[in-house]
Amino acid sequence: MKEIERVKCLIIGSGPAGFTAAIYAGRANLDPVLYEGLQPGGQLTTTTDVENFPGYPQGVNGEQLMEDLRAQAARFGADIRMGIATAADLSGAPYKITIDEEKTIEADTVIISTGAAAKYLGLPDEKKYAGMGVSACATCDGFFYRKKVVAVVGGGDTACEEAVYLAGLASKVYLLVRKPFLRASKIMQERVMSHKNIEVLFEHNAVGLYGESGVEGAHVVKRMGEADERRYDLPIDGFFLAIGHQPNSDIFKEYLDLDEVGYIQTEPGTPRTKVEGVFAAGDVADSQYRQAITAAASGCKAAIEAERYLSGKSFM
Ligand code: NDP
Repeated sequence: MKEIERVKCLIIGSGPAGFTAAIYAGRANLDPVLYEGLQPGGQLTTTTDVENFPGYPQGVNGEQLMEDLRAQAARFGADIRMGIATAADLSGAPYKITIDEEKTIEADTVIISTGAAAKYLGLPDEKKYAGMGVSACATCDGFFYRKKVVAVVGGGDTACEEAVYLAGLASKVYLLVRKPFLRASKIMQERVMSHKNIEVLFEHNAVGLYGESGVEGAHVVKRMGEADERRYDLPIDGFFLAIGHQPNSDIFKEYLDLDEVGYIQTEPGTPRTKVEGVFAAGDVADSQYRQAITAAASGCKAAIEAERYLSGKSFM
């Protein structure tokens, strides 16, 4: 039989939203239990310096920021555990969340802060060369491409950030952008355009990869579908995806409203989902802003909501 544990406040996910929720819930005596999930510390652990989190005039390393948030949550009594939520039953309180397919947590309130995961193009070659030249995390894998040639796919802030990071290691970075312009913020665009190691290939799509025992190049198409379409092979050693993210909401879809991409829908301006006592915070519920600071703010709101919800019931 599965082990069952009852908790007042269960927080799923360990990004800025989850840890901020844990700080507030801990200080409100909700004895929060937080499961860290697949990527402890969340997406910021795979970024370089975070320059826009208020309070750090010189910027802060993403991993360091998450370690600090974790330590702050622990200081206020959050019970931080390794484990992945693998199933959910939100049909009635207490809500049941299965951890690692083997343990059930029964929770009076649940704060879902499971974040989002990097998207892939969907090319069979991405799977074929996984770990052999294909990556969705420059800071995790960039080290392997020192003095080599890499391509980054995408035209947003993530792609630009990854390209700049990789340009400090690799001898050459191609940025493959499907549109004739970058979507990234002006400051990131400037950094990319002015970097001597980065060449932006606008109106380019990657349609495949080739190589004997690892990536040796990408099959690319310039101006796909146009009269002057051109197909050619681009020799590269590494292929980095930076085309956005997919919210980690799958196990909740039976019970909560999701948009067409999978973002959890909440009451506007609040982390309240349509199930009372269940809140969604951070990137899993935010298709608009997706910033560390907005995630942290929504985690704070979720914990305050959880505290209000519990004090209105007889659980506490
Ligand atoms: P975005 O959704 O902003 O950008 C995704 C990029 O990938 C777009 O250029 C998009 O092209 C491209 N793309 C999507 N699908 C494909 C495909 N199938 N083939 C080719 N290209 C594709 O995602 P980001 O992850 O860059 O950013 C998410 C949010 O996080 C943004 O709000 C961003 O500002 C923020 N952010 C902020 C940072 C910072 O401030 N330090 C760092 C990183 C992210 P198209 O434009 O044609 O749709």
